[in-house]
Amino acid sequence: MSENWRMRTRLVHEGAARSAFGETSEAIFLTSGFVYGSAEEAEARVADRAPGYQYSRIANPTVRMLEERFARLEGAEDCAAVATGMAAVHAALFSQLRAGARVVASAPLFGACQWIVTDLLPRFGVESELVPAADGEAWRRALSRPADLVLVETPANPTLELVDIAFVASLAREAGARLVVDNAFATPWLQRPLELGADLSVYSATKLVDGQGRCLGGLVAGPAALLKDSLRPFVRNTGPTLSPFNAWVLLKGLETLGLRVEAQQTTARTLAGWLEGHPGVRTVRYPGLASHPQAELARRQMKGPGTMIAFRVGGGRERAFAVLNRLRLVKISNNLGDTRSLATHPATTTHAKVPAELRERLGVSEDLIRLSVGLEDPEDLMADLDRALAP
Ligand SMILES: *Cc1c(COP(=O)(O)O)cnc(C)c1O
Repeated sequence: MSENWRMRTRLVHEGAARSAFGETSEAIFLTSGFVYGSAEEAEARVADRAPGYQYSRIANPTVRMLEERFARLEGAEDCAAVATGMAAVHAALFSQLRAGARVVASAPLFGACQWIVTDLLPRFGVESELVPAADGEAWRRALSRPADLVLVETPANPTLELVDIAFVASLAREAGARLVVDNAFATPWLQRPLELGADLSVYSATKLVDGQGRCLGGLVAGPAALLKDSLRPFVRNTGPTLSPFNAWVLLKGLETLGLRVEAQQTTARTLAGWLEGHPGVRTVRYPGLASHPQAELARRQMKGPGTMIAFRVGGGRERAFAVLNRLRLVKISNNLGDTRSLATHPATTTHAKVPAELRERLGVSEDLIRLSVGLEDPEDLMADLDRALAP
């Protein structure tokens, strides 16, 4: 495909591989296996001496189209698509780690990622440590001794704190660690971790890539050799394969990714400013607000502040629940990045399994509401939120 295409063109055309029928939209190759012309050909394909597909757990043409399109968006040599965002995070970690390794991760993290870091890795003899996302000194301390892998999520779910990717990448390099960035909130449209020094970027494609609340998926983008030598063997032998049907849905999602992210971000900017002045709101956290403690970093490392807002309503869990229960247009849901605006109470849903004391320390307070801004008219969203925020 062309080297010179810009992002919007790539979102629509990159990776398309047409069959003999010349279909305009990518075909769904919903097949588990592939037929060989001869026993010799089967032998040659399995030995990687002849091109062609073998079995959809290993590779599939529709999944491959998604991988190629996404790799080019990300500016990565290659990309591997898997069944869910958690399969992407799990594979990125477990394909590289072994007993005795040391992992340093940012906090807060998406609840399931945090469980992998603090509960699962130690079971396999991997030492792990959490570092507050925005604390430069804590990053320096944690990476002053050798480490094998650093996992960061930025903007962080749900507090929207940022990790300085270039800064942590240089510390990780000195500590001998690879850096994995969970870029689900920003997408490659707004933030390109590999250009900032990360080794791999991982995604829940369930979120803004599908963007329409239809299917789950995960993506890992990075250097071809790293994917070929560690990630792909892990995925093909453990089996978190993406369905060709879901890969097709995600290809359709990518076609409109830029338009959706831009439109949702424009509304998010409007809502964040308006919420900050609302008497029913105590504080608002949005990377595009001057009041965000890392507003300057947001401008430096992101193309835009994104589509997610977190705000505190005061009055603890009781008031947060009352506000959520009065919403009519905005739906209560754990998902995010949808065309529909979705609100959630992280302390009792996405981060319910994080110990209460740690939750408070990380800023996932009882009065915190996370808002994923959709494509609705901003006036309708403001009217809905205004009613919900009444005293
Ligand atoms: C949703 C999410 C995940 C997990 O993705 P699934 O597709 O639900 O498995 C991981 N990291 C972040 C930041 C997320 O928002």
